[in-house]
Amino acid sequence: MNIDGKQAATDLRKSLAIEVELLKKDKGIVPGLTVVLVGEDPASQIYVRNKAKQTREVGMISNEIKLPEDTTQIQLLQQLSKLNQDESVHGILVQLPLPKHIDESIVIAAIDPNKDVDGFHAMNSGRLLNGESGALVPCTPQGCIILAKKHLGDDLSGKHAVVIGRSNIVGKPVALLLLQENCTVTIAHSRTKNLADICQQADILVAAVGRPEFVKADWIKPGATVIDVGINRIEDETGKSKLVGDVDYINAQAVCGAITPVPGGVGPMTIACLLKNTILAAQRTY
Ligand code: NAP
Repeated sequence: MNIDGKQAATDLRKSLAIEVELLKKDKGIVPGLTVVLVGEDPASQIYVRNKAKQTREVGMISNEIKLPEDTTQIQLLQQLSKLNQDESVHGILVQLPLPKHIDESIVIAAIDPNKDVDGFHAMNSGRLLNGESGALVPCTPQGCIILAKKHLGDDLSGKHAVVIGRSNIVGKPVALLLLQENCTVTIAHSRTKNLADICQQADILVAAVGRPEFVKADWIKPGATVIDVGINRIEDETGKSKLVGDVDYINAQAVCGAITPVPGGVGPMTIACLLKNTILAAQRTY
């Protein structure tokens, strides 16, 4: 069975549009998201365009600030300082990756944690680690949990979740969220031994590796819920470019209970959760 991320994202956006209406009517607040893009990276430009379109579709204010490739770190920090002070801006997202001469960690640290809708600021990572309700949680991990619940229902407690990957943007936060859901969590990474054996124990298997079709069907416990975060571009037999996940999707389907396809699984949830975070940030201003 497929877990339909496109449909889940559409459903989430519909419910967010209602929340935006309520905020406007009851509090006179229109949630505003500002995305800052430095440079001309074509993939980033597409992401930023999609974010802006979906932001407007749910009735929120979308602003894009496009800065040239040679913007200095100081100039970017000054821009962020202005956005931090602007009360009409509830969410700030700096599109990554940044040009090489700019230190991403310094830039992320300069965003007001209450406007950090990507959830990458150390204050938000700390809040997530502490299990505080105030955290703005990274978007892709949030999407993973929503999709796992689509198949398993709201109660994930006692499930053994195996997360392959320990990055700050996916692996670690998704593992913390699963822990909050009372799963027993194993985090695997490039130094993990007997990875296939560990994966075979997973009721929930999250693959965030960045390697095409890395997880094989015989690593998957029959009936498991598989959340494939990977987005990898490869060439098919005819030389045409296509997107695949981190899981051998075709063969995994026969074994697992449910799986998120790539594309159309975790990907669409990421922007929807970004909008959710921006609304949350706006709600917290009153
Ligand atoms: P990343 O920072 O490169 O992290 C990859 C993780 O995989 C690392 O922790 C690494 O272990 C682990 N790994 C690499 N090779 C391994 C191996 N042979 N065995 C076990 N673990 C291994 O990547 P990321 O940013 O987390 O992203 C992961 C994937 O998700 C990518 O394909 C990315 O494009 C995709 N992604 C999708 C979305 C979305 O919206 N759907 C959002 C973000 C990312 P070490 O720590 O030991 O190096």
